[in-house]
Amino acid sequence: MHDFIQHTALSVGFDACGIAKAEALDEDAAFMRSWLDEGMHGDMQYLNRNFEKRVDPRVLVPGCKSVVVVLLNYLPEKRQAEHLPKIAKYAYSKVDYHTVMKQKLWQLEAEIIAEYGEDCVSKDHQHSFSDSAPILEKRWAEKAGLGWIGRNSLLIHPKLGSYVFIGILLLNVDVTPSEAPFPFRCGNCRKCIDACPTNALNGKGMDPRKCISYLTLESKSEIPGELKDKLSGCIAGCDICNDVCPWNKRFGHPHNHEELTPTPEIFSLTKEDWQKMTQEEFDAIFSKSAVKRASLERIRRIVVS
Ligand code: SF4
Ligand code: SF4
Repeated sequence: MHDFIQHTALSVGFDACGIAKAEALDEDAAFMRSWLDEGMHGDMQYLNRNFEKRVDPRVLVPGCKSVVVVLLNYLPEKRQAEHLPKIAKYAYSKVDYHTVMKQKLWQLEAEIIAEYGEDCVSKDHQHSFSDSAPILEKRWAEKAGLGWIGRNSLLIHPKLGSYVFIGILLLNVDVTPSEAPFPFRCGNCRKCIDACPTNALNGKGMDPRKCISYLTLESKSEIPGELKDKLSGCIAGCDICNDVCPWNKRFGHPHNHEELTPTPEIFSLTKEDWQKMTQEEFDAIFSKSAVKRASLERIRRIVVS
């Protein structure tokens, strides 16, 4: 079953797939508890909810025995010119990556059910997730042998780098796990820590309250004055700790997923264009894009700051 799932995942368009045994993540639970107690989650109150589910997929989906993890490379062929207000590469595509990932996960699930029957999946609960459920995706990817969590706090796949979306499918059957979890391969490198303009990375993890991705796309509060000057031209997300990583420089290669075709305007919108943009124009250009997670008003405030 392991090989069938891996092979099918690649045939529906994923770039990598691994499988881990479902179990409690005790070490992560302890770390997350102190992280939450310190208020590191900022405005992301949802991280405070569903704690037990987050640290044990068997609580999230009763009967769950195996965690299938898939990766989708999103590194685009073309990048924005340096002078343009920056949008993170994960938000380049016309269609929000959550939609693309979900469709592929449903395809994979349908093929598994067709081969092994409906008992493979939980009948009463949702069991496929893409960045949308209380589940520690990066840790599961690591446990499924797909890479390690780097000092930039991202999953790094040894042949794809870190420009990857992670999807999860929980199965109610025992599947032989993939290879052992990947060893940490950052070595003595600290490039991401040194390059982060807001000092959000400290070598042990990331403080989301200082991270530009959080400040531009997740936070509902005003960006604190001391951080406003450090946004480095980013208006929606930040790629700096991805861009400097030697693993991306060496192994990152453009994706070939048509569904992730970029929004063309991303390569032409100047600071002035953003300032003049009407809500109607914003809605028309980014109607299905992940950029819509940030409001036009917020982006405009960032552009003029
Ligand atoms: S995304 Fe940007 S701000 Fe956030 S940790 Fe990486 S470099 Fe720092
Ligand atoms: S830049 Fe260096 S330290 Fe940071 S994630 Fe990449 S290899 Fe690890």
